[in-house]
Amino acid sequence: MTDCLFCKIISGEVAATKIYEDEHSFAFLDINPVNPGHTLVIPKEHSRNIFDISSQSFTHVMETVRKLTPAVKEGSGSDGINIHINNEPEAGQVIFHTHIHIVPRLKNDGRKMWPGNPYEEGVEQKIAKQIIEQL
Ligand code: 5GP
Ligand code: ZN
Repeated sequence: MTDCLFCKIISGEVAATKIYEDEHSFAFLDINPVNPGHTLVIPKEHSRNIFDISSQSFTHVMETVRKLTPAVKEGSGSDGINIHINNEPEAGQVIFHTHIHIVPRLKNDGRKMWPGNPYEEGVEQKIAKQIIEQL
C-alpha cells in the first residue's frame, strides 16, 4: 500500500533497524521500545490487522515470530518475552499494517499486565455462547 508506513519500511523508503527478512516477512526494532530489543514482525503482504490477514500470511509471520523470539530474548539479555498484537484503535493499534510485538521483559521492569476481574453470576456462560455462535 503506497501510504502505509510499514510497507515503506519493507521497501526501504523509510529507514528502520532491520533484524530479519525472508520471502514473506520482515522484522525490525520498534522506534519506541517498551524495553531495548522490542521487535516488530510484519508480513510483507499488506493487511490491516488480524481481521483481514490471509491464513497464509498469518502462518508465515507467526512462524517468523517463533523463530526470532529466542534470539530477541538472548540478544537483549531479558528474562521473559511478551508477544502481542493490537487490533483496531480501541485495542491500541496505531499503525494499520499487521504487526506482532516481541517485547523483552526484565525482572522487576515494572511493566504491568492488564488487571483481570472474575465474572459475575451467569456472564461467563453467556459470553461463551455468544462467541461460539460466531464460529
Ligand atoms: P501499535 O500500537 O500500532 O500496535 O504499535 C505501533 C508500533 O510502531 C509502536 O510501538 C511504535 O513505537 C512503532 N512505530 C511507529 N512508527 C515507527 C517507525 O517509524 N519506525 C519504527 N521502527 N517503529 C515505529
Ligand atoms: Zn502496509
